[in-house]
Amino acid sequence: MKKILPFLSLFLLVACRNDKKSTDAAGENSRFESYKTNFVEALWKLNPGWASSVGYHRYDSVLVLPTDERRAIEVAFSKSNLDSLNKFDLNTLSDANKTDYYMLRDFFKGNIWSITSMRAHEWDPSSYNVCGSFAEMLNNNYDSLDVRLNNFYLRMARVPAYYQTARHYVKNPTLEHTELAISQNLGGASVFETDLIEALGKSKLSAKEKEAIVKRGAECAAAVKDYADWLKEFKNPNPRSFRLGKELYMKKFEYDIQSGYSADRIFEKALQHKKELHLKMYELSKTLWPKYLSQVALPEDTLLAIKQLIDVISLKHVAPDSFQTAIAHQIPTLINFIAKKDLIYIDPSKPLVVRKEPAYMAGLAGASISSPGPYDKNGNTYYNVGSLNGWDKERAESYLREYNHYILQILNIHEAIPGHYTQLIYSNQSPSLIKSILGNGAMVEGWAVYTERMMLENGYGAPAGSTEPEPEMWLMYYKWNLRSTCNTILDYSVHVKNMSKEDAIKLLTREAFQQKAEAEGKWRRVSLSQVQLCSYFTGYTEIYDFREELKKKQGDAFKLKQFHEKFLSYGSAPVKYIKELMIKD
Ligand code: ZN
Ligand code: ZN
Repeated sequence: MKKILPFLSLFLLVACRNDKKSTDAAGENSRFESYKTNFVEALWKLNPGWASSVGYHRYDSVLVLPTDERRAIEVAFSKSNLDSLNKFDLNTLSDANKTDYYMLRDFFKGNIWSITSMRAHEWDPSSYNVCGSFAEMLNNNYDSLDVRLNNFYLRMARVPAYYQTARHYVKNPTLEHTELAISQNLGGASVFETDLIEALGKSKLSAKEKEAIVKRGAECAAAVKDYADWLKEFKNPNPRSFRLGKELYMKKFEYDIQSGYSADRIFEKALQHKKELHLKMYELSKTLWPKYLSQVALPEDTLLAIKQLIDVISLKHVAPDSFQTAIAHQIPTLINFIAKKDLIYIDPSKPLVVRKEPAYMAGLAGASISSPGPYDKNGNTYYNVGSLNGWDKERAESYLREYNHYILQILNIHEAIPGHYTQLIYSNQSPSLIKSILGNGAMVEGWAVYTERMMLENGYGAPAGSTEPEPEMWLMYYKWNLRSTCNTILDYSVHVKNMSKEDAIKLLTREAFQQKAEAEGKWRRVSLSQVQLCSYFTGYTEIYDFREELKKKQGDAFKLKQFHEKFLSYGSAPVKYIKELMIKD
């Protein structure tokens, strides 16, 4: 209980001050600021692993044992904080603090629910794994190697006890999470053997110190492997289903997605959206058919017709060795287009740093954004672009068809401009530690997905002399959009409606036009995760619906640029809270 003491005293302090019924907004906001500072300090003390993953390394030497007592402390921590939040006068808080307040409240509620109702610690053995955070200590250069190795050594002390604790609490695991736990732990054990030995080779620690570290490393590797072996032998005649079931699913959706729509409503909307996309795609296919497939009769099966056309149009793609340069060359085009159409202000003093993906990411290809954590203020934000070097011909060809001439541009919009990268620049302008720690995934992904459509609606991809994008661009965009739409349908159907694997693969290959391998990968993802796959479509739908609602309300006064800038100025908060504040204004 010691861990929550600083909290209780803070809460008392706040309570006393509030008794004076201060109407002083500045005072209330500054009290809220210090509440947040204290909360974050306590959060890191309670969660050393989470702390180091965001760049806060004060507790690196500590490994927390995942016991029931520990979970009780977390629940008490959340309850005490909910109580503290209650003492603030919400109406006098600034907009930025209001959204922080809401996000904290939802976080505490979700945390209590997750420990007491979701209880993944009993059925997800992959939730017990220390390897990744130890690997991070070796790979990440935040401090001198010897300091990191010393913390590594101290932290290793409780690894065997950690896995003994895990065995004590795994009760009725799903087969899927058991398999994942086995492979992830077996794969991760090498951090205590090979990676550690390699790091010691570069260290200036004494021979004696090194010897002690190697010895402890061997004990840890053994503990990790023993856990995997124990799971292999686990007697589990009636394993729990990986499907979450309606009751848990609805709650997890509520806490994780923080949407203004319920999970049911989003599912209905996704079904409806899929139908509309298919209709639009078939119309386009009929128009484009003579241009690409004049020798072939248009199939009566509309989905088959769309698929055949997509296959032909996908042949237009860059050569494997110009994949990186093609992506880099598109960035100025996107920036110019946005300026010309006056869609959103992009700060020119923070140019996008495009780089070849670093070695540790190699093999992922595609493109991604790396942003510095909240404690790494001077870090750069990078646009990592993968290379297809060393890929065999067949794999590269299939990948390039997927990221063909059209989709590659949509990918750039999503990841970079005006998608994730632009959103990040705006959220850094209103820095909030709370939002960078608890940032809402549905808002962040929703924004990126929203911008894809917004860019095309404004004529991105139009040939010279025209304001309308080529029909090929729209067709490919719809295919891309079907992916996030069907992610939602799949997730809900599998976890709530018991959808079979066969039907799932059919949905993805036939109705979303995906390759078999992609569909198989998605099946694996949906059987190991819950709700997250809904974030893309949910955020997108909320933003789009909200924009249309405002447009209707404001008529001619509606300015797209203003909407975008105002929307992003609230940072990575859930769309429903941004909406509430924007409507109030
Ligand atoms: Zn080709
Ligand atoms: Zn994204």
